[in-house]
Amino acid sequence: MKIYNFAAGPAMLPKEVMLKAQEEFVNFQGSGSGVMELSHRGKYFQPVIDHAEANIRELLGLSDDFVVMFIQGGASMQFAMIPMNLLNGGTADYVDSGVWGAKAAKEAKLYGTANIAASSKESKYDHIPAQSEWKLTPGAAYLHITSNNTVAGTQYQTLPEAPAGVPLIADMSSDIMSRVFDANKFGLFYAGAQKNLGPSGVALVVMKKELAERTSDKVPTMLRYSTYIENGSMFNTPPTFAIYMLGLVTDWVKAKGGVAAMEEINNAKAAKLYAFLDDSSFFKSPVAKADRSRMNVVFRTPSDELDAKFVAEAKAAGLTDLKGHRLVGGCRASIYNAMPMEGVEALVEFMKKFELENK
Ligand SMILES: *Cc1c(COP(=O)(O)O)cnc(C)c1O
Repeated sequence: MKIYNFAAGPAMLPKEVMLKAQEEFVNFQGSGSGVMELSHRGKYFQPVIDHAEANIRELLGLSDDFVVMFIQGGASMQFAMIPMNLLNGGTADYVDSGVWGAKAAKEAKLYGTANIAASSKESKYDHIPAQSEWKLTPGAAYLHITSNNTVAGTQYQTLPEAPAGVPLIADMSSDIMSRVFDANKFGLFYAGAQKNLGPSGVALVVMKKELAERTSDKVPTMLRYSTYIENGSMFNTPPTFAIYMLGLVTDWVKAKGGVAAMEEINNAKAAKLYAFLDDSSFFKSPVAKADRSRMNVVFRTPSDELDAKFVAEAKAAGLTDLKGHRLVGGCRASIYNAMPMEGVEALVEFMKKFELENK
């Protein structure tokens, strides 16, 4: 039976990438060793990390003003590293559009003032707060947003701009490389790799080089951005296998036609699933239409019991990991770059059948 994995993260990777990694698993480029067995200081690994960085620069159209860093600790460590390096007792604005953004703001409070510029928490994060309602701090140290809310299933359809002189920072963990965006508008953006870029174990952090100058001397070496910049992300042993996989995934994105091609496929996949949800009198999407995520499609049946039955029967039919996040319940289909259109079609067919049998 063909399996389609709809997990939110770690999530499915492109089949071609998995097969390529398998092919090289025990013998990387004739070295006689697998990538994870090779020294990060040896002759094989430097080209691997350089290649991953070059792919990212090309795919995201990064100018030399930006540095590309590979950092362990996931997106969650960036919640802390950002204020540790860039806040210094000042005030930063946070848009609270989901549980991850709220966690990011919580860490910032340890290093300064985190002003919640706007929040949709009271309506269970069912929409993104309208920009016209944001209460921004004049001269803020930065403005932090979450481009795609993985748990609630909302996404900025157009990424906002920060006021002049205020660096815009975005947690893009669950939608990086899923659509074209202008990197130049950002001071920093970051993503845990395990949704759209590779396996867990590494976060991609892209930052305007000049921001590194803000860091105080009191920040520990391993938590300073400058340490990663000065040492090419290899001050200590980096997560070599995760970085290698990130290189393979970005090779795959390039072969598919780049980020614009990904966006086109992602739009078609999401449109297919939302069109079905809009037609259905059984399944419902709980989020504002204007803010629907093209990566994490959240939906519900008429009851918690039917949600559970749906998730179990879908799994038996080869459509796995459709359970909603433990904080919100319901169902969620994560359809990142690696999910093919066929997977979404199979899901919609199954949903139709389930609806008929359970209405
Ligand atoms: C998954 C996720 C995180 C947490 O990532 P970790 O790498 O587990 O720390 C943070 N933000 C968003 C938007 C996410 O989707």
